[in-house]
Amino acid sequence: MGSIGTPPNPENGSASTSPPPASNCDGDERKPQQATIGMPPNAETTPPTETEASKKRKASILPLEVGTRVMCRWRDCKYHPVKVIERRRMHFGGPNDYEYYVHYTEFNRRLDEWVKLEQLDLNSVETVVDEKVEDKVTSLKMTRHQKRKIDETHVEVPLDAYEICRNIGLVLGYWRSDAGHEELDAASLREHEEFTKVKNIATIELGRYEIETWYFSPFPPEYNDSLKLYFCEFCLNFMKRKEQLQRHMKKCDLKHPPGDEIYRSGTLSMFEVDGKKNKVYGQNLCYLAKLFLDHKTLYYDVDLFLFYILCECDDRGCHMVGYFSKEKHSEESYNLACILTLPPYQRKGYGKFLIAFSYELSKKEGKVGTPERPLSDLGLLSYRGYWTRVLLDILKKHKGNISIKELSDMTAIKAEDILTTLQSLELIQYRKGQHVICADPKVLDRHLKAAGRGGLEVDVSKLIWTPYKEQG
Ligand SMILES: [Zn+2]
Repeated sequence: MGSIGTPPNPENGSASTSPPPASNCDGDERKPQQATIGMPPNAETTPPTETEASKKRKASILPLEVGTRVMCRWRDCKYHPVKVIERRRMHFGGPNDYEYYVHYTEFNRRLDEWVKLEQLDLNSVETVVDEKVEDKVTSLKMTRHQKRKIDETHVEVPLDAYEICRNIGLVLGYWRSDAGHEELDAASLREHEEFTKVKNIATIELGRYEIETWYFSPFPPEYNDSLKLYFCEFCLNFMKRKEQLQRHMKKCDLKHPPGDEIYRSGTLSMFEVDGKKNKVYGQNLCYLAKLFLDHKTLYYDVDLFLFYILCECDDRGCHMVGYFSKEKHSEESYNLACILTLPPYQRKGYGKFLIAFSYELSKKEGKVGTPERPLSDLGLLSYRGYWTRVLLDILKKHKGNISIKELSDMTAIKAEDILTTLQSLELIQYRKGQHVICADPKVLDRHLKAAGRGGLEVDVSKLIWTPYKEQG
């Protein structure tokens, strides 16, 4: 079984915060290079054995409060600044033995994790706790009128998160992107954020892979006492125990996603799944996908969506590598709602393939399209790369004048996206009272090189598809 220890970057690189592989540091501990606030002036000469003073200090700051900022030893064996997001008492520990859920302030939220006290450099504790966080937590606890008594120091986060999501309509099937959040009042939204801040499921098994998750996903409460979930890679049903999955695999007769195979080229296949006809599959896919998508990209009602599932096929079946979803009807000309390449398959060009595929569908519909906003950090990078490659390839080959409208007609890329892409590359100039595209071949080559390779090509001749039409 392959094991994915670190969230890798997507095909197109990303966030300069790519983590190194997990390691146990082998005594190769390097202390933070700089002392931070709270460090005594003589820290460097402090002998390895604890002094009375440091013991006293430790006793006064432990357990650390939510909101505390401190340096934490990460998987690269170096110390990085973190903020304590949550804490919980250790199962077999003493009254002051806690684990801490931390956010590395330099990194994306997907790297948030539970850490042990020994990973924290207590000399670096900033003693001023983030007041706002404290207030928020306290006020939430006081206003929620919970029947279940919650231990002040052992908040059952996942369960509460599900309840809160449900109460404010953010549970699967009623989600929408941030745009939809505007309809929620600020307090509800804060509450939702507060209770989805800690990952609930740590790993999943899917086909041949065990995958570390990135974000919270609101699985039904009965699943939230499991750190690991087992997914059937074909119907995406999920289970709490390996034996349940083994029993399921004996009777599950799917060997590919439900729905129609609309593309096959070599070992790659694309299936179109109608969320209305395959509701359970659509919901399972959302639960799974949410583990790797931040709360910005969520779902509405699966009925209203088509899901395009990209698979690598072999003699055992068609194995999902990623997908994108698309609204059946979009007034904003969205041609893609959510996009995900599963971590084991990232950096292989599949993300680019999915984006290119979404535009091929738009071309067949005779419409221009654009991805739903907001895009995730990784999503935006993928799109910028795609737009740059497609547009500059045309400009390079084109002789004579070309307008943005013509570019849009040729590529199905929305005019606004063309304009912002060309502007960001400084290819639009203002001359004699009008905006013109300036395409010096050398400059184009330089930008194309920077945008990287295009990944796997979509072979349009292998796409057999007619645009969605409501039946009946
Ligand atoms: Zn199954």
